[in-house]
Amino acid sequence: MQNYSFLSLARNALTGHKNWQKAWRSPPLKEKYEVVIIGAGGHGLATAYYLAKEFGITDVAVLERGWLGGGNVARNTVTVRSNYLRDQSIPFYVKSVSLYEGLTKNLNFNMMHSKRTMVDVVHNYPKMRDLRRRQLTMDIYNSTYEKISVDRVRQLIPALTGGGAESRLPIIGGMVHKDAGVNRHDAVAWGYARAADALGVEMHQRTAVTSLLRANNGDIHGVETVKGPVKAKKVVVAVSGHTTTITETASLRLPLRTMNLTAFVSEPIKPIVDVIVNCSDLGFYFSQSDKGELVIGGAPDSAQSFRRDIKQHVFEDTVGAMLELFPSFKNLKLLRQWGGHLDITPDASPIMDETNVPGLFVTAGWWGGYKAIPAGGLTMAHHVATNSPHPLMEAFSYNRFKNLDYILETGTTTAR
Ligand SMILES: Cc1cc2nc3c(=O)[nH]c(=O)nc-3n(C[C@H](O)[C@H](O)[C@H](O)COP(=O)(O)OP(=O)(O)OC[C@H]3O[C@@H](n4cnc5c(N)ncnc54)[C@H](O)[C@@H]3O)c2cc1C
Repeated sequence: MQNYSFLSLARNALTGHKNWQKAWRSPPLKEKYEVVIIGAGGHGLATAYYLAKEFGITDVAVLERGWLGGGNVARNTVTVRSNYLRDQSIPFYVKSVSLYEGLTKNLNFNMMHSKRTMVDVVHNYPKMRDLRRRQLTMDIYNSTYEKISVDRVRQLIPALTGGGAESRLPIIGGMVHKDAGVNRHDAVAWGYARAADALGVEMHQRTAVTSLLRANNGDIHGVETVKGPVKAKKVVVAVSGHTTTITETASLRLPLRTMNLTAFVSEPIKPIVDVIVNCSDLGFYFSQSDKGELVIGGAPDSAQSFRRDIKQHVFEDTVGAMLELFPSFKNLKLLRQWGGHLDITPDASPIMDETNVPGLFVTAGWWGGYKAIPAGGLTMAHHVATNSPHPLMEAFSYNRFKNLDYILETGTTTAR
């Protein structure tokens, strides 16, 4: 794999940037692989990379119906954090955040990871109690969460001029999560893809899987694609919002609903905020990108859907809420809006497991799954390679709904 460094940049600049190696190959599709991964999003690519890197399994094909990294991994608001509520969740996300912090070095790809702190702006006492409870559990697992006063909230976010004592919803305080950060989503997909390719993994774009194939004994046997059948003893479904459309072809029903989540960005402005601002009581959050754009997200649309645009009422609710706390943003122009489809389980935690179709694994239910990509990939690779779940993901089992072992999480951002 070509090393990206200051020297290689300088050398390639002298030759007009014509000699860079391709980041990954486009080999012909084989008839058979040891492992097929469906979906070249964050989770599919990370799983492929760790299978090769940690377990030496390189006969792996990642099949992608569109282009690599064009799904939710390219559509999210890149918030990385570990402020969860349950004992089963926190260590998993702590691991993921720490892997993200080392990813630039480990993949030799600039992730532009910026550990910049998240500030939760709180307007009511039940919410504050919920977050304090979170803090007590998080303390056990060395994740940072700290209560702060209204004055401190305003110091950290000078543009926050609404929410005063006379307002409809006065701010009563805040919580600070210092481990939170943002990074560059394309780099995550491309970095994992490049490193996996260098280890021998194949990526096949424009290769949609149309159904799962099962042997006579019921085991997984491979997949049917638009380019013909591909055999594999193990298949991993990593297609986020499209999980049920694939698993249903093996007569497997999963407790997932697909919903639309949207985001939008403002025109670039001078630096006004260096933390991630989360106002979940009002239903919005934002951070400022390195280019100066405000990257703004709201709550998911509660209807089940596969749409990828933004509904007008979701947009108006989010902007209206933001202007209540940040009235000075009223003249900001918005540049772009987009959406993605998320798969959500009844307890808002992921499903990462081998299913009751032997050899068929799913990594799904990732409605806030960008932050989970490194730990999700590492632990799925462990499960696929060793046939036993990694301790960090054991609780996210497929059977927990049957056994009522729910891991009830609501987002700290804008879950409704
Ligand atoms: C607007 C928005 C904001 C978000 N903000 C955050 C955030 O701030 N922090 C956070 O942690 N998470 C966030 N998320 C969630 C996060 O993006 C997802 O949970 C995560 O990216 C999902 O995992 P993935 O990257 O593997 O999915 P994807 O990138 O969607 O990968 C799945 C891939 O499967 C492919 N595919 C689908 N069907 C097939 C098929 N039949 N054959 C072959 N390939 C197929 C798709 O084309 C896609 O490339 C956000 C999501 C959205 C939409």
